[in-house]
Amino acid sequence: MRAATPIAVCLALAASSYAAADTIILKNGRRIVAANVTQDASRVTYHTPAGDLSIPRSIVARIDHDDFTYAPASADHSQPPVSAPPIEPVPGFETVASLAVHGDAIDYAYLASLDLEAGSGSATAIAKDAVAHHVAAQFLENKSDTDSAIDQYRQALIFDPRNSGLLLNLALLYLHESRFTAALDPLQRARRTSPDSPDVAKLMGWAYYGANKMDQAIDEWKRAERLRPDPQVEQALQKVERDKSEEESYREGETAHFNLKYYGGAAPDLARGILRALEDDFRDLESQLDYTPPEQIAVILYTEQAFADITRAPGWVGALNDGRLRIPVQGLTQVTPDLARVLKHELTHSFVGQKSHGRAPTWLQEGIAQWMEGRRSSSAAGALVEAAAQGEAPPLAAMEGSWMSVPANSATFAYAWSLAVVESIIDVGGVSDISRLLDRIAASPSSEAAVEETLHLNYADLNQQTVAYLKRAYLR
Ligand SMILES: [Zn+2]
Repeated sequence: MRAATPIAVCLALAASSYAAADTIILKNGRRIVAANVTQDASRVTYHTPAGDLSIPRSIVARIDHDDFTYAPASADHSQPPVSAPPIEPVPGFETVASLAVHGDAIDYAYLASLDLEAGSGSATAIAKDAVAHHVAAQFLENKSDTDSAIDQYRQALIFDPRNSGLLLNLALLYLHESRFTAALDPLQRARRTSPDSPDVAKLMGWAYYGANKMDQAIDEWKRAERLRPDPQVEQALQKVERDKSEEESYREGETAHFNLKYYGGAAPDLARGILRALEDDFRDLESQLDYTPPEQIAVILYTEQAFADITRAPGWVGALNDGRLRIPVQGLTQVTPDLARVLKHELTHSFVGQKSHGRAPTWLQEGIAQWMEGRRSSSAAGALVEAAAQGEAPPLAAMEGSWMSVPANSATFAYAWSLAVVESIIDVGGVSDISRLLDRIAASPSSEAAVEETLHLNYADLNQQTVAYLKRAYLR
C-alpha cells in the first residue's frame, strides 16, 4: 500500500557526540578507526583508549580523514558477568612464538609459510600454525586491534577447525567486542569437541547473557557449576536469576506508538527514557505535521558494533531510519540532550516518509529532520552563502536520491544546505507549508513539480530564496 521508505541517513548532529576520527585502511582491507592519526616514513601512529599504537606504514593502503564519526565508546563498558578463563591453545613451540612476533611486529611472511605447511595436513605443521596465529592474535589484541586478532584465529581454524583452544580464544574476542551472537558459533563448535568443558559453558553463558537470552544463560552457567564450581559463575548466576523477571519486561518495550527492542548492554532505564521521549516527540510531530502514522513504529537500540555489523552504513552515519529507527546507544545509560535530538530527528523521518508515501526527496527529509530536532543554520550561514556566491550551491535535483555513497565532507555540506532550504521555506510560509508540500509530493509526478505547485518556486528559485534568507537571518 505504501511505497517503501527510502533509507534516511543521519549525521551526527551535536558536536559533542562526535569526535574527529580517521580511518586507517590496511592493504588487507581491514579498517581501524582511530583518533589523532599521524605518520612518518615508516610508521603510522594512532591514539586509542589504551595509549598510542603504531603499525608499519607498509601495511597501510590509505588513511581517510573524517570530520564526523561516532565518538569512540568510552571505557565505561558494562562489566562482563564473568571474567575470561585463561586459555592457551597448545603448549610448547616457544621458537614458533618468537618467530611469529619479533621486533614488535608480526612476521606475516613466516605465518604464510606455516599456512602453506599446514595445508599439507601434517599434524605437527598444523599445531605450529595454530600457535603462531595465536601468538599473532594476542599481539594484536594487546594493541587493541581486536578485529585483526579475530582474523588470526579464523585463519588458524581453517587448518585446525576443532582446536578448542583456538575456538575459545576466538569466542572470547567476540565477547570482548559485545558480538554475542558471533561468539556462539565457535562456542558451539568447541562444545562438540569438548562437551564437558566448564570453560565452554562459562563463555556460552556469557554470550547468551549478552544476547539477552537469560534462560539459556542460566542453563549454561548451571552446567558450568556442575562441571567445576566457580565462585564467579555462582555470583553471576545469582545476579541473572534475580534480575531476570524484571529485566525481561524491558527488553521489549511497547507504548501506544512504539515497539522497542534492544540488544547487548543497553540499560532498562535507558529504554524506558527513550520510549518516554519518543512519545513526547510523537505528539509534537503529530500536531506540527498534521499527520498520524497509522502503525506502531519499530525502534531498535544497538551497541555501536552491532549497529555497524547490521546496517553496513558508512562510518559517518550516526543513526538510521529504514522504516525502523535504528539507534546506536553504546555507553549511554540515560537520554542525554544529544540522544534526545537524534531520537527526534529519526522519528521525524518516519513521519515525513509515511506522510509523503515514501517519496520525499532526501534534501527535504534531512532538512525537516534537522529542523525538528532543533538545529538551525546560524553557524553554517556564512560558509553556505560564500559557497553559493562561488556557484557551488548544490542543485536540489542532485540531492533527491540516497546519500549513502556520499563521502563525509560532501555529506556535511549537503545536510547544512538542506537545513537552510527548509528553514527558508518555514520562514516564508510556516511549518504548514512543509505539511502541504509533503502531501503534494505524495501525489505529484516529481518533487520539483510539487515544490512549484505548493510554493510557486522551482528548484533554482528555492536555492535563491535560501541564500536571501541566510543573508537576512544571519549575516546582517
Ligand atoms: Zn536524517
